[in-house]
Amino acid sequence: MKNILFIGIFHETNCFIKQKTLLKDFEILKKKEILNLTNDFSQISGFLNFCKNKNLNVFPTVSFTATPSGIVENKVFEIFWKKFIKIFNKIKQNKFDAIYLSLHGAMVTEKIFDVEGELLKRLKKIKTLKNIPVFGVFDLHANFTKKMAKLSNALICYQKNPHTDSYKIAYRAAKIMYDSLNKKLIPKTYYMNAKILWPPSGTSTLKNPMRKLESEARKYEKENKNILAINVIAGFAYSDVPENGVAFSVIATNYKNVSIIIKKLVLLANKLKLKGLVKEYDLKKIITMISSKKFNQPVLLIESADNIGGGSPGNTTDVMRSLISNNIKNSGVIINDPLNVKKLKNVKVGDFCKLIIGDMQNYKKQNQMILKVKLINKTNGRFTLEDKQSHLAASRGEKINMGNCALVQCSGVYILLTSIKTPPFDLGQWKSQGLDPAKLTAIGVKAAAAYRQAYDKISRISYNVKTSGPCQSDLNKIKYKNVIKKSFFPLNS
Ligand SMILES: [Zn+2]
Repeated sequence: MKNILFIGIFHETNCFIKQKTLLKDFEILKKKEILNLTNDFSQISGFLNFCKNKNLNVFPTVSFTATPSGIVENKVFEIFWKKFIKIFNKIKQNKFDAIYLSLHGAMVTEKIFDVEGELLKRLKKIKTLKNIPVFGVFDLHANFTKKMAKLSNALICYQKNPHTDSYKIAYRAAKIMYDSLNKKLIPKTYYMNAKILWPPSGTSTLKNPMRKLESEARKYEKENKNILAINVIAGFAYSDVPENGVAFSVIATNYKNVSIIIKKLVLLANKLKLKGLVKEYDLKKIITMISSKKFNQPVLLIESADNIGGGSPGNTTDVMRSLISNNIKNSGVIINDPLNVKKLKNVKVGDFCKLIIGDMQNYKKQNQMILKVKLINKTNGRFTLEDKQSHLAASRGEKINMGNCALVQCSGVYILLTSIKTPPFDLGQWKSQGLDPAKLTAIGVKAAAAYRQAYDKISRISYNVKTSGPCQSDLNKIKYKNVIKKSFFPLNS
């Protein structure tokens, strides 16, 4: 029976958010707690179920996971490492056949640009692990580095955005591990950076450039026997790190045709680079259009600048303000606002209350709005994913907790206030609060691309609108310190 050492660390770090991500923001699982994650569509579940099917002996150690957010305090990684070493020391007498990592791939701490590379470096320094091959799974919004390529054998990334395949890819990565160990033919990773930054809103695999790059990668995979996998890595433009951007990695048993293929993919990405930039509409114009025309489905107002899945706080008010001041009746927005939820604790359903909605920490005062609202509903904010394979399942499993919630109404606009920011990737978010989103006239959606898996079911009318927030689609507006501007499109054009 083969012994597999498991480690998980999962965070997408947006370096342009003022609040740091703290230890308390992470869900920490240890040893046997990890083995319980077999009943959802998360990547850990995909790995564990493969191991179960093939009778592999998993040694679970630690798993740290947090929702995308600001720079991670350094202490988090050091505590993660300490916990791992403590558990590892108790099991180190075992002979391990492989290490399997469950990663995001875009984690940044106050001191470390490349957390995943640092983890690999530390693992390789442990004498008994030095020569153990490393496999694993990661999110396609990773910033893949030289260290990650050099110190791992086969890290495999998702092929879909929205990420409906995290379980499947984790399973596939485990199969690559299993086959490699059985054949005693351990692959290597080759990679190349394409020197392109795309905002997350331009990286949906339902559209070009990602769709075309994905299909080319699958074609090369099929044609070449020595190639086990090709990763099309979209990068995460809001991590301010030197090794950022679109990259390709090839997992192969020999180098034969790898360099030609990788170069062809880099060339194709450069040919398609303009397609990854996103056109944003003027919010005022779209709202005017909504108020003058009748639509048979909700109009989706995509606020990618406040993309929760990209680490934003989820509390800008531009869209809410426009809907209210233009009297767009029966429309809705979701704002993360724990303070106001608390304030509404003693208000009765049906009563009115004055609230100040809007974040002061990240934005200017214009973001705030004083509103007289009617309380419609209060809940504990827990719901089960309506779509079990939703993008959310990748990191959070199928039971979602938005914290205590309050649904309020002002001038016919529904405002769902949450206590834990939750990316809008599942319609259960609305339905669990007693509101059917399909019946709304317009909905503000704080996301980049991953909302589509859920919202495509109720509407095909969507507009990316220009609003405030840290996840600006126009990357030239971002104040990078560590990304070398002259090297990356579109900063150099
Ligand atoms: Zn992602």
